[in-house]
Amino acid sequence: MKQLVILSGKGGTGKTSVAAAFAHLACEGPSPLRAVLADADVDAANLELVLHPQRLETHDFTGGSVAVIDPERCQGCEVCEQVCHFDAILPPSPQSGSAAGGEGYAVDPIACDGCAACVYQCPEQAIRMEPQIAGCWYHSESRFGMLFHANLYPAQENSGKLVTLVKQNARLCALDGDYPIIIVDGPPGIGCPVISAAAGASLALIVAEPTVAGIHDLERVLQTTIHFRIPALVVINKADIYPQGVVEIEAVCAELDVELIGQIPFDPTVTEAMLNGEPVTAYRAESPSSQALIAIWQIVSAWLVSPGEPHA
Ligand code: SF4
Ligand code: SF4
Repeated sequence: MKQLVILSGKGGTGKTSVAAAFAHLACEGPSPLRAVLADADVDAANLELVLHPQRLETHDFTGGSVAVIDPERCQGCEVCEQVCHFDAILPPSPQSGSAAGGEGYAVDPIACDGCAACVYQCPEQAIRMEPQIAGCWYHSESRFGMLFHANLYPAQENSGKLVTLVKQNARLCALDGDYPIIIVDGPPGIGCPVISAAAGASLALIVAEPTVAGIHDLERVLQTTIHFRIPALVVINKADIYPQGVVEIEAVCAELDVELIGQIPFDPTVTEAMLNGEPVTAYRAESPSSQALIAIWQIVSAWLVSPGEPHA
């Protein structure tokens, strides 16, 4: 089983449009490959907006734990407030008087880092750690195949762990159904969730934009894939908006010995297709962006079938 992860240095480069087009082409393209889909952009999961899946299963995601103070036990000694390095202990308000006997100290769950230092230091054993539901993950069925996706609730951390969970379940589904490919729509950037999304990938396809910031972001993402020894290919989205940027991306790819396999022109049909909830290749196959994506998918799918051979 091969795992394709689609990455970009930042959000808004068209990564999800590419992932949705690949989901369509893998299912209904000229040389179909059965694929399981995973949306690993758990902070902004958009693939479902294009694929309109039907949810089959919903599961809670338990992130970290936060401290909770039992007001009956708390004697207001202030030890936890002194111990907490995250300013997460809220002292009693002046109006409430003494903290003893249930008036008082509380934990701000947003500020709490879950370090549990206060639990060990409280002389009254008044503090316990409670696991937090930090989001949900879903197993859904779309018209282009099974989709695993998730939502991390606002202000929650551990998105890398949730990404891993989504990918693990996509992998189990692929193993069960003997699917040859998992297509992962990765998170943008280079942080922990990206590393989780890229872990174990057979191939990373990086979507770059020919802008000054886009070129810098591309270099950072390529350094990540090179560091983790993940083979990478690059495509340029909206390639015609800044020709000099294309030249610079070509130079970056040549310098890092990474293949640039295609250029997608700026095409209003992409937005139109998104607004209509369709991958652009399904919405208007003859549009310039669809034609470019079809050519790119042929190279990527051939690479997945025969890794490492020159296909461009
Ligand atoms: S350390 Fe324990 S007893 Fe002291 S204020 Fe905090 S919760 Fe209350
Ligand atoms: S668990 Fe750590 S971060 Fe949370 S309130 Fe206690 S000391 Fe502060």
